[in-house]
Amino acid sequence: MKVGKLVLRLANEHQDWTNQQIADEVRRQIPGTKTTPASVSSIKSVAKRAVPGASKPNAEDTPKRLRKAAARYKSMAIGNAQNGLVRNLLGRLGEHSFTQVDWERVRDDIFGNRCAYCGEADRLEMEHAIPINMEKLGEHHLGNLVPACKRCNSDKGNKDYAEFLADQPERKKAIDAHMARSRYRPLRRNGLLVRALLRAAHEETRALAERYANLLRELDEQIDREPSRTDS
Ligand SMILES: [Zn+2]
Repeated sequence: MKVGKLVLRLANEHQDWTNQQIADEVRRQIPGTKTTPASVSSIKSVAKRAVPGASKPNAEDTPKRLRKAAARYKSMAIGNAQNGLVRNLLGRLGEHSFTQVDWERVRDDIFGNRCAYCGEADRLEMEHAIPINMEKLGEHHLGNLVPACKRCNSDKGNKDYAEFLADQPERKKAIDAHMARSRYRPLRRNGLLVRALLRAAHEETRALAERYANLLRELDEQIDREPSRTDS
């Protein structure tokens, strides 16, 4: 991990440098590496958690703020991976594939190029009638896609179409018909089992990330203990 060590040394020696400057210098000193400002940032973040004081914080970075920033970075990164996995797994169910043309047919022919929730015709987006997450168990299936205007899309949030259209039975019926026609059968029936499996996958992703984060931290600490030498 020559790159990691160099990043930390440069960060320590040139505390006014930006991650971009550090990345540029690393690439100059170690030709062939693909160090980016983002990778500099994550190396610094790992080091901060592994070796307290390894890179000196700025004056305004109180320890509390640093801890908070590191915690947020960590939970965000792993949370994204966990949610990404759930979305990916739900997206694979049924191995259903469709094309842009299929989607346009749904939008234009079935919903008349209007929002499925309010009838607005302006700036339509592709919307999942049943959200793709562990609670709602929607899938990326043509039958779960409807056109929606920006406002309905954001108002709807994490609700499914039936909740969102509770007082508009006609619009709900149109979506039900679209689902049936596309042979999309929502996962509700086996919801408990499906959720249990997804929760297990979700947890395992976090455990996996923790395991590798620990391995990287250990590696980082070992390298810091080695006497410095210049390999050519
Ligand atoms: Zn709308």
